[in-house]
Amino acid sequence: MSHQPNPDRRMLTVRTVAELRAALAPARGGGLSIGLVPTMGALHEGHLSLIARARAQCDLVVVSLFVNPTQFEEPSDLERYPRQRERDARLAAGAGADVLFVPSGEEVYPPGFATAVEVLGVTDLLEGAARGAKHFGGVATVVTKLLCMAMPDVAFFGQKDAQQLVVIRRLVADLNLPVRIETCPTVRDPDGLAMSSRNALLSPDQRARALALPAALDAAARCAAAGESSVPALLRVARETMLDAGVEPDYVALVDPDTFEPCEALLRPCLLALAARIGEVRLIDNAMLAPPVSPSRVSHDRRPLPTKVIA
Ligand code: AMP
Repeated sequence: MSHQPNPDRRMLTVRTVAELRAALAPARGGGLSIGLVPTMGALHEGHLSLIARARAQCDLVVVSLFVNPTQFEEPSDLERYPRQRERDARLAAGAGADVLFVPSGEEVYPPGFATAVEVLGVTDLLEGAARGAKHFGGVATVVTKLLCMAMPDVAFFGQKDAQQLVVIRRLVADLNLPVRIETCPTVRDPDGLAMSSRNALLSPDQRARALALPAALDAAARCAAAGESSVPALLRVARETMLDAGVEPDYVALVDPDTFEPCEALLRPCLLALAARIGEVRLIDNAMLAPPVSPSRVSHDRRPLPTKVIA
């Protein structure tokens, strides 16, 4: 079966788990691979890159659209969250989705629903601390449910939500879920702002100030490339870049990309993660920082040392 987007491909929209399973049964029975791209809708190029990656790797691509109420700690944030169902369906189909799964709240959380998936440790840090325990609890539970509903071979997630990815990788490993988790790079607007459904809620002035986030990542990356390995110094550069642009960071942290534990020095690649509220809109971003490769650390060169060093 071709993995290429097919303009004639008809996307099927389903609303219940029974319909989803019925739609996937022939492919599963035929040994075809199934890819799942979970989203909350208001699709942008970031989401579409995940769908395109799924299209390139899998025989059948499922995109889910569900604004998960249990991961919103503020009712106003849930209410404001952009919803654009018809546009989303058009974009998902154009990017190569075969099945669009749009469950209702009752389908995901029927009366009597009483189970939660809780990932310990990493969920207490950064986004977990800032947004409250409810956030990652809601994410972990809904992602587990979506994986059980669609039973994909591969599920695709964005690096933009780096801590969410750590939580998902943890629960997939801990619960022995038979799915491969694929990370896709962050897609940015031409000026560097990471695409986010929430960007639509920014005024033009707020959007201009939001550029403080990628600017802070760039400034710290330049510092790291110039040889700075002190964590306080790197964090100061990022923080001051944001403050200079009139943005108060929620947090700026240099962490291990696999655990989100703080790094003590930039002696290996580490993730710089940051968050800030611009007006009512909370934005996050991250980038890998790496120490420069110094000549003394390029140790694969097996040529003999110059005589004067040996002597
Ligand atoms: P959301 O609809 O915000 O829950 O996001 C659905 C998926 O899209 C998640 O795996 C996100 O990490 C991913 N995503 C969101 N924004 C971007 C982006 N700018 N680039 C790549 N992936 C993204």
